[in-house]
Amino acid sequence: MIMTTFDIGYFKAVIEEMAAMIEVERDYLTSLDSSIGDGDHGINLSIGFRDVSKQLEQFDTAAENISTLFKKVGMSLLGKVGGASGPLYGSFFLKMGVAAQNKQAVSFAEFVEMYRAGVTAVQNRGKAELGDKTMIDAMLPAMDYLTQHQEADDVAAIMQEALVVMKQGAESTDNIVAKKGRALRLGERAIGHRDPGAESSWKLFECFVKKLG
Ligand code: ADP
Ligand code: MG
Repeated sequence: MIMTTFDIGYFKAVIEEMAAMIEVERDYLTSLDSSIGDGDHGINLSIGFRDVSKQLEQFDTAAENISTLFKKVGMSLLGKVGGASGPLYGSFFLKMGVAAQNKQAVSFAEFVEMYRAGVTAVQNRGKAELGDKTMIDAMLPAMDYLTQHQEADDVAAIMQEALVVMKQGAESTDNIVAKKGRALRLGERAIGHRDPGAESSWKLFECFVKKLG
């Protein structure tokens, strides 16, 4: 069956999947950050998503909507996570929530609009461009791919392909120097190391794909 709408139950399951994934990947993401940053990326996200999980315990999908869900996630990450990734991912979820316009369910094109709003917020806040060795290197190609295909019928295939595009974007950070973030001061020594935020961003997106069924 082709899924044409993304409802509040789906998004709640996605956020729960994200929280579980971050626990599994915490040490890996932290080890990436140990190579070119300060070794806390997985720890930061784990602190944030543990708070998210706590917030979700009392989350009533009948009384709430997609906007209030994503705003809660964004506020948790903004409030609990130090470092660059807290405000960046916080804004990402917050603006996805704003774009959902208090709906209980959205179409695929509306979901793509939400994703676009999230990525735009990361860019507005962090000012990173493609090739700066940040999470933007994974997010921007996926955003473009989704925008080009937002009217497509086979949503699951498009989402899967967007994930592939994101992984390629993350891989592209391996062999470049950083122009933003802590890895900037390493110069050429950042070459050969993957950007931790690019890696976490595709792993977070994978949760949207997994919960499509
Ligand atoms: P910190 O760097 O403050 O320790 P984290 O380790 O949690 O924070 O997150 C680091 C990640 O944040 C980087 O791998 C990169 O992807 C992302 N990042 C840092 N600065 C920016 C920026 N200006 N724009 C986009 N992403 C950024
Ligand atoms: Mg760090």
